[in-house]
Amino acid sequence: EIALNKDTEQALKTSRAQLAEAMALARIVYWELDGERESFIFNDAFYEFYGTTAEQEGGYLMPVMEYLKKFAHPDDLPLFLQNRERDKANPAREFSSSLEYRIVRSDGKVRSILSRARIINDPVNRTVRVYGANQDITERKEAEAELRQAKLLAEEANRLKSEFLANMSHEIRTPMNGVLGMTELLLDTRLTREQTEYIHAVKTSAESLMTIINDILDFSKIEARKLDLESVPFNLRDSIGDILQTLTLRADEKGLELAYHVSSDVPDALIGDPGRLRQIIVNLVGNAIKFTERGEIVVSVTCENDEEARVNLRFIVRDTGIGIPPDKREKIFESFSQVDASTTRKYGGTGLGLTISARLVELMNGRIWVESEVGKGSAFHFIIRLDVQAGQPVRQIPETLSNLEGLRVLVVDDNATNRRILEEMLRYRRMQAVSVDGAPAALKMIQTVKPESETFRLFILDVNMPGMDGFELAERIRKAPEYARSAIIMLTSSGMRGDASRCRKLSISGYLTKPVKQSALVEAILTVLGKTDPENAPPPLVTKYSLQEKPNSLHILLAEDNLINQKIAVSMLEKRGHTVEVAGDGEKALAVLRDRQERIFDLILMDVQMPGMDGFEATARIREAEKTTREHIPIIALTAHAMKGDREACFAAGMDGYVSKPLKAETLMSTIETAVAAEPRRVATTIQAEKETEGIFDKTLAMASVDGNMDLFREVTQLFSDTTAQMMAGIREAVQAGDARGLDRAAHALKGAISNFGAGSAYETALKLEMMGKEKTLAGSLDLLGLLESQVVQLKHALEVFAAEAGPYDR
Ligand code: ADP
Repeated sequence: EIALNKDTEQALKTSRAQLAEAMALARIVYWELDGERESFIFNDAFYEFYGTTAEQEGGYLMPVMEYLKKFAHPDDLPLFLQNRERDKANPAREFSSSLEYRIVRSDGKVRSILSRARIINDPVNRTVRVYGANQDITERKEAEAELRQAKLLAEEANRLKSEFLANMSHEIRTPMNGVLGMTELLLDTRLTREQTEYIHAVKTSAESLMTIINDILDFSKIEARKLDLESVPFNLRDSIGDILQTLTLRADEKGLELAYHVSSDVPDALIGDPGRLRQIIVNLVGNAIKFTERGEIVVSVTCENDEEARVNLRFIVRDTGIGIPPDKREKIFESFSQVDASTTRKYGGTGLGLTISARLVELMNGRIWVESEVGKGSAFHFIIRLDVQAGQPVRQIPETLSNLEGLRVLVVDDNATNRRILEEMLRYRRMQAVSVDGAPAALKMIQTVKPESETFRLFILDVNMPGMDGFELAERIRKAPEYARSAIIMLTSSGMRGDASRCRKLSISGYLTKPVKQSALVEAILTVLGKTDPENAPPPLVTKYSLQEKPNSLHILLAEDNLINQKIAVSMLEKRGHTVEVAGDGEKALAVLRDRQERIFDLILMDVQMPGMDGFEATARIREAEKTTREHIPIIALTAHAMKGDREACFAAGMDGYVSKPLKAETLMSTIETAVAAEPRRVATTIQAEKETEGIFDKTLAMASVDGNMDLFREVTQLFSDTTAQMMAGIREAVQAGDARGLDRAAHALKGAISNFGAGSAYETALKLEMMGKEKTLAGSLDLLGLLESQVVQLKHALEVFAAEAGPYDR
C-alpha cells in the first residue's frame, strides 16, 4: 500500500470536495450500475437529489426495477426499459448511451433529467460495468416547451390573421365594386373636360387600390393555405391572346412592342387554372412593361417534354428593360421585397406580385426564376405542369380552313420578333409565309416574284414602320396590276381614328390590333379571302371600331340584392337599350316570373350570393318549372370575384353563363349576346329532339362549346360515345373495390366529358360520385353507379338523336 503524504491527501480531499461542489452546482449526480445484480449503486448526493436518504431507502444498492417503481415517471417507463434493453443487446466493448426522461422525487416534484452512461463489456471476465451521471435539465425542458407553445400560438395567430383577411375579401371588395362600377357609369355620362379628367383619376386610383387589395388577399389566402387551384378545360392560345390584349394598351402608351409566340408543338386544349395562369402572366408582363423604357416585351411558350396526358410548359417573359442585379435575383421572389426601396416611389407596387406568382407556379407543380443583365433586360422563366384534354388534341380545324393550305403570304413588319411570330402562326395553319422587314424589301419582293404560281395571295402589313408606313405600302401594292385585288390585312398596335376610312379607300378589309390572336388572325384571313360560306359565317371581322354595334333590345330580369350593384347593372343595360326589372332576391325573382302568364323576359341576370334564396337555388327552381313549359330562358350568373368552383357551380345549377364582379359593361354585354345568340339555335331544333333531350343535356351550352358548329358537335358526340365505356368501367371498378381515390379520379374524368354537354342529370350523378370519392364515404355509391349507367345510356341516345335531327340550320 502506498502511503500518501499529508499534502497529497489534503489536495485530494479538496479536489474531491470541489468536484462534489461543481457537480451539485451543475445538478449532476453520479451513479453506477451493477450489471450482474441489475442494481444501481447510489451515493448520498444521488439520494439528496431525489429528496431522500440512504437510510430511508435501506442502503446504497437498489435494484433497477425498484428504482423505476419509486422514481421514474410512469409515462417514461417504457422509454427507459427500451433503452436499457438496447444497451444490453449492444455487443460493443465500450460505448456511451444517453436518455432523457422524467423522474418523480419523493416530495412529488417532477424533474427532467438527462442520464448519460458509459457501458463497458468485458468479454473475458464476462462482466458489465455501467456508470454514469444524471443531470437536471428541467429548466431547459420547460423553456423548450414554452418555446414550442409560443411557436404554435404564433403560427395559429398568423393563420387566423390570414384567414381573417381571406374572409374579409368579400366585405372589402363589395364597396370597391360599387366605386368602380359607379365610376364606369359616370364616365359614360355627359361630363366637362375637367370632370372627365377627375373621374379618370378616380378610376385609376380605384383600380390600383383594387389590385393591391387583391394582391394582399391572395397573398393571405396562400399563406393560410386556402388557395386551391381550379382544374378546368381551356384553350391556351386564345387565353394568352386575351390576356395580352388587355396589356397592349399599357405597352402602347410607353411605345413598347408587345408580342407573343406559342410554339406549334404546344398542345392547345389543356386542363388547369386559366384564371391563375392569367394572374402570373399579367404580373410578369405588367412588371416587364413597368421596368422597360424602350424596346419590346415578348412572351413565348414552349413545350418541355410531354407524356401521354401532361405537358411541361415553359413560359418566358422577356423584356429590354432596366434588368435586375445578381444579388437581388432571388430576393425579389420574397414577399414585400423590391430591388431597392426607391422602387416604390418611382414605379409603385407592393413587392407582392412575384411572391404570389411564385407560389402559384409552385401550386402548379412548377418553378420560376429570372435571368437578367442590368441595363439590358430580364427574362422571367416559369415552367408549369398541365393536363392535356383527353381525346381533344387541338381544337378541330373546320373544313374550310384546309383551303388555306399552301397559301402564299407576305408579311411586312419592321420588328423581327413579330415577323417570326406571324410566320409561325401562319405555318401552324400550313400556309406558306415569307416575311420582310420593311416597305422597300416588300416592293422589291413583289417585283422579282414573277411566275403566277408564286404571287402572293395575301399581305399582312404592319402599319407603323419607319420610312414608308403600312398604308403607303398598301397603296403601292395596289398599283401593281397583279395585286390590285389581292387581300391585305393591316396590323397596328394602336387603333387610330381615321384608319378605318383609309382601309376602306384602299379596299383593305382586314384590320387587326396587336398582339394578334391566332384565332382572330385565321378568322380575318378567311374573311378577307372570302372563304367563308354565308351559312357558317364566322363573326364579322372584329376591328376596334366595329365592336360597338348594338344588339336588339332585350327585356331582362335582374335578381340582385345589393342596391349599388342593382343600379350599376340597370344603368349599363338601359344604356344599351335594354329594359330591366329588378328583384331583390331569388324568391322575389321567382314571384315575378310566376306573375307573368307568358314568357316576357329574354334573359335573367342572377346574383349567386343573395340572402334568403340564393341564385343557385332560384335557378334550379326555374329550370325545374321549365320542364313542363319546355322553355329555356338564358340565365347568366353574377358572381363574386374569382370564387373557386363558381364556374362549375353555375353550370351545374343550369345557368348559361357567368360574369364576375365588378361588372364591366363590355364583358356583360358580350356574355349576354352569346347567351341570347345561342337561344334561337335551340328553339330551331325540332320539337322531337326537344322532348328526347329535356333535362338530359343542355343544348345551348353544348352548341356554345362547339361554337355552333354542328359537324364538330357530331364529332364530339362520337368521341364521347367511344370513350364513355372505358370511363364507366373505371368508375365501376373503383366502386366495387371501395377505392375512394380511384372513384374520385374516374368520376371526375367522366364528369369532365359530360360537362361539354352542359349540366344534365348524368353530370350531377357523376359529380355526386366524385364527391363521395373525395370525402371517402362510399356508402350508397353502388346505387348511384346504377343510376349513372342508365343516365349515360340516355345521354348518349339523346345526343345521337339531337345530332341526327338538327338540320342544316344549325351549321
Ligand atoms: P412590385 O412590382 O409590386 O413591386 P413584384 O413582386 O412584382 O412587386 O416585383 C418585385 C421587384 O422585382 C420589383 O419591385 C422590381 O424591383 C423587381 N422586378 C420585377 N420585375 C422586373 C423586371 N421585369 N425588370 C426589372 N426589375 C423587375
